[in-house]
Amino acid sequence: MKRYAIGIDLGGTKILTALVNRETGEVAAHVKKKTKKEKGAQNIIRKMVESIEELLVDNNLNQEDISSIGVGAAGQNDRANGILIAAPNLDCYNLNIREELQKHFNIPVYLGNDVEIAAIGEMKFGAAKGCKDFVCVFVGTGIGSAIVKNGQLITGATGTAGEIGHVIVDLNGRPCACGAHGCLEAYASRSAIETRIEGALKKGRKSCISEYLEEGKAITSSMIQKSIEREDDLVTQCVSEAAEYLSGGLASIINFINPELIVLGGGLINAVDFFYQKTIKKARAKSLPVPAAKIEFKKASLGDYSGVIGAAFLEDRGY
Ligand SMILES: [Zn+2]
Repeated sequence: MKRYAIGIDLGGTKILTALVNRETGEVAAHVKKKTKKEKGAQNIIRKMVESIEELLVDNNLNQEDISSIGVGAAGQNDRANGILIAAPNLDCYNLNIREELQKHFNIPVYLGNDVEIAAIGEMKFGAAKGCKDFVCVFVGTGIGSAIVKNGQLITGATGTAGEIGHVIVDLNGRPCACGAHGCLEAYASRSAIETRIEGALKKGRKSCISEYLEEGKAITSSMIQKSIEREDDLVTQCVSEAAEYLSGGLASIINFINPELIVLGGGLINAVDFFYQKTIKKARAKSLPVPAAKIEFKKASLGDYSGVIGAAFLEDRGY
């Protein structure tokens, strides 16, 4: 077995590329580059190629030392053909990542989605190590999840299983970016909390979060956390409401899939422990008694690296 693989986490604002030791799961080195969707798909490919070349040169490695390049991208993927079908946050459509990277490297290329690679990382070396039936739920700008059954990812008939963010929690509810109304993501994501806080501030509600806000910039998870620490009424209320909805989503997962474990991660979970604690307590209370008695909750433990580590193991799936 070759010792190293390259894992790439292709996000909306940055590309994290890592040289991962396949025996230990350790990140031996990494390169981070910013992405701008205005610059187009070829710019993304160029940055991935540059990152891989930098890692090889800096670590005195050749292409022959690398077993695979695994790429995880937020969006819909054709895993078998290595094509990123649609990634709206990158403005990428029908981008053949495998073909593009193989113009530069004679290394097998595998593609998965962002939550899927994080789930693989957490299963191999993180919070879900040793567990075969679990669900990963990541809460940040949006809400994504991955379902693992008998150690295998359940991807569904069209490869889109796990879209918990678009489970409908209110039939006549808030509009969602997907075009539907009342999706969980419109109630329990960081952006949903942001919209609620901004709406209240516009109506004249007072909150200490105003001290952290910058014109034209988003409300971050850390601003939310600082306001919670200061026991701010408005922010506490908006976060509690989001936790109430997310706990409903998790209770639905618990009742429907009956997993052993739910791993929660993403910016909002990492930064705001109040949100995490409230969510898991309420989720257990809202679930049916039998699955609720068994369910375990854990925070994702690999942080920013869960995606790149998981991506380095996409090759084990074989396509
Ligand atoms: Zn939706």
